[in-house]
Amino acid sequence: MAEAGKPRVVVVGGGIGGALLAKTMEPDADVVLLDPKDYLEISWAELRSMVEPSFAERSLIYHKDYLTTATIVTSSAVNITEHAVLTADGQSLAYDYLVVATGHVLASPGTKTDKLTEFQKENEKIKSSKSVLIIGGGPTGVELAGEIAVDYPEKKVTIVHRGSRLLEFIDQKASKKCLDWLTSKKVDVLFKQSVDLNSLTNTEQSYKTSSGETITADCHFLCIGKPLSSSWLHDTILKESLDNKGRLMVEKDLRVKGYNNVFAIGDITDIPEIKQGYLAQKHALLVAKNLKLLIKGSPASKLGTYCPGFPLAIVSLGRKEAVAQLPFVTLTGRIPGLLKSGDLFVGKTRKQMGLDA
Ligand SMILES: Cc1cc2nc3c(=O)[nH]c(=O)nc-3n(C[C@H](O)[C@H](O)[C@H](O)COP(=O)(O)OP(=O)(O)OC[C@H]3O[C@@H](n4cnc5c(N)ncnc54)[C@H](O)[C@@H]3O)c2cc1C
Repeated sequence: MAEAGKPRVVVVGGGIGGALLAKTMEPDADVVLLDPKDYLEISWAELRSMVEPSFAERSLIYHKDYLTTATIVTSSAVNITEHAVLTADGQSLAYDYLVVATGHVLASPGTKTDKLTEFQKENEKIKSSKSVLIIGGGPTGVELAGEIAVDYPEKKVTIVHRGSRLLEFIDQKASKKCLDWLTSKKVDVLFKQSVDLNSLTNTEQSYKTSSGETITADCHFLCIGKPLSSSWLHDTILKESLDNKGRLMVEKDLRVKGYNNVFAIGDITDIPEIKQGYLAQKHALLVAKNLKLLIKGSPASKLGTYCPGFPLAIVSLGRKEAVAQLPFVTLTGRIPGLLKSGDLFVGKTRKQMGLDA
């Protein structure tokens, strides 16, 4: 239940950043979390759940399991006025402070039960195929290829990637190490080619690429980046604060440009850094600190500021190995794998949310 007498903080988006922010603000505010899903999804555990569906039991967390006093509204934001967020199901959620954390467009079902069924079906699709085509060589495509190559080494995996190297969001050395690892596992990678997405069906066995090659595969997975979930902001009071890529422009204290009581965190922001969940969590903790200061009456000049750091990234390659871009060094193999690939930070993330690992 919501608590009366405290300022109302509405958090739009219950992903990695929004969920942590809502949790952290509970003691100090009347928190409302608005999300179209009834659960928090630890996105980097998704690919393991496709080869091992039971893994998703811990990585999909009901919002009600980590929130104790916040009000959870299961719907999407469709508009924002000076004082309220309007939802797709017709509610008006008044706010004193607003935090936008809508990341990327929703690609998952609204209930945890349906998401678990989706993983089950994807797993059956992998198990019943001798060959798998993965479209896209970003983190999702690479991690999925790694999971299949390690758990089902007998299956033929092909990645078709539009770009000239894998994992373009990290440096060239890391891309190369990742390609070498995949090649060692007999994964074929085709660069600078695309597959006509409009011609895809679920029964296709023969896929034509833009350069005329034909790939035969029993099934395919589309692993291309999802657009930001910001088109809903175009007719809101925040429309002038969007940049030409649809990101919310923020000040160093993470308030949205032009607003005193509206913050943005996570992938939706224009902060010049790679888009990573651990950074969305850093934003969430800073904004929680700043909200607490504002609630106590501190002047805006006392707010903490955010400084983008070195772009750390770890991409898992199956259950034991990974490629990591760390300060001064890029590593591949079992050592970076020890950091991420076993539990994929699921236990760590659950603990951050006050739950058992
Ligand atoms: C395969 C893969 C592996 C990754 N590995 C890592 C990793 O190892 N480490 C790492 O730090 N990061 C990793 N990332 C990146 C990380 O997942 C993202 O950076 C992170 O999820 C961003 O958090 P966010 O809170 O900004 O948005 P999200 O986590 O995308 O959450 C957005 C939320 O907003 C909701 N939403 C959307 N539109 C609306 C609306 N209109 N109204 C209300 N709610 C809405 C969605 O339902 C969702 O719950 C990985 C990503 C992928 C795809």
